[in-house]
Amino acid sequence: MTVQSQHPETIVLHAGYRSDSATAAVAVPIYQTTSYEFKDTQHASNLFALRELGNIYTRIMNPTCDALEQRVTALEGGAAALAVGSGQAASTFAILNLCSAGDNFVTSTDLYGGTWNLFANTLKQFGVDARFVDPSDPEAFRRATDAKTRCYYAETLPNPKLNVFPIKEVADIGRQLGIPLIMDNTAAPVLCRPLQHGAAVVVYSTTKYIGGHGTSVGGLVVDGGNFDWEAHGERFPLLTTPDPSYHGAVWTEAVKPLGPIAYILRMRVTLLRDVGAAMSPFNAFMFIQGLETLPLRMRAHCENATKAAQYLSRHPKVTRVIHPSLQDGVMRHRADTYLRGGYGALLGFELKDGLDAGRKFIDQLKMFYHVANIGDARSLAIHPATTTHSQLTVEDQLASGVSPGYVRLSIGIEHIDDILADLDQALAGI
Ligand code: PLP
Repeated sequence: MTVQSQHPETIVLHAGYRSDSATAAVAVPIYQTTSYEFKDTQHASNLFALRELGNIYTRIMNPTCDALEQRVTALEGGAAALAVGSGQAASTFAILNLCSAGDNFVTSTDLYGGTWNLFANTLKQFGVDARFVDPSDPEAFRRATDAKTRCYYAETLPNPKLNVFPIKEVADIGRQLGIPLIMDNTAAPVLCRPLQHGAAVVVYSTTKYIGGHGTSVGGLVVDGGNFDWEAHGERFPLLTTPDPSYHGAVWTEAVKPLGPIAYILRMRVTLLRDVGAAMSPFNAFMFIQGLETLPLRMRAHCENATKAAQYLSRHPKVTRVIHPSLQDGVMRHRADTYLRGGYGALLGFELKDGLDAGRKFIDQLKMFYHVANIGDARSLAIHPATTTHSQLTVEDQLASGVSPGYVRLSIGIEHIDDILADLDQALAGI
């Protein structure tokens, strides 16, 4: 970055790329190529042996993806990042980069449903045990830890409860025991920088706010470069012992000339190489377009969401509104500690007349889109009891924070008057 700045508004426009070295193009070009010509056989073998870093094949690295990776790394204050094909791929890689069959990790119960399924079922198939604990008690992470625990995992602002995760409290416990905290910061980019609070790794579904346009599915893993893997070497054999898939490389040793990037380098040259969940250069370009306005959009999202929460909390047909701006006690304290510049744009509310009212409300909306997504620039709504959570029993729905009359909104950046008008007319119609 030739322009040095600590400000997110500047970082997202300038970090990691100035202009194209071949054409001087100011916009990051879409390097839509599978492969890169080697200068000679020595150059090729240097690249494969990691004696020299450079482009080999787009499944493993690509200059458009690289610009996105560098920008998000700068935004988070990390050491390096890896772009992958989806948020799900990002969380899968974040765990499998540390855990083998027989290992475990401790995770918050408050998770996106897709992540829950991945952890409870698919990773179990690989012999990796997810230990679910209640995030309201940080000490639960310590209690669930044993010699085979490889990492902790949580979301910054998990819906539907929207209780901000105690990042520093759990990161501190992890650092005492030699365990890195991985934070999914999908719902709170710019508002929260988990690495500053002691997290070691940040995961994103870029599909949501980072894109904002709702055109592309993607994910990112950011390595904070702030965790001493060698100090707890026995916990991380994948990083600290010879890797048979890479002629015996020991990743914590191999990166010594490059910086504290053992975690993310291993992820790129082994997991991404083998599993192939790469982000396409075109999608990386789309995310770069979104990223450039992310700080501005997050501000507008948050302002609108706080106003919508206030409006709904005064409405006679609404019994409860869930948004950090309306919380008090410990939860409000956590929101104020970890979120800067707003309380996020996810918002839940409960209708007095239950399931039918929830369904009718969604059907009456004119501007809000009825979709199973969050983080779009447009306002979105869904009725979880009849959609995302409909496979669960009513008891399990309630345990996950979804009552029959619960509606989830992802507030967009339209004019607030139009957002409130649409909510108002939909509520009038139920
Ligand atoms: N993490 C969170 C918090 C999410 O909300 C989602 C998707 O909704 C994901 C991860 C998964 O992301 P993707 O759909 O890009 O795979």
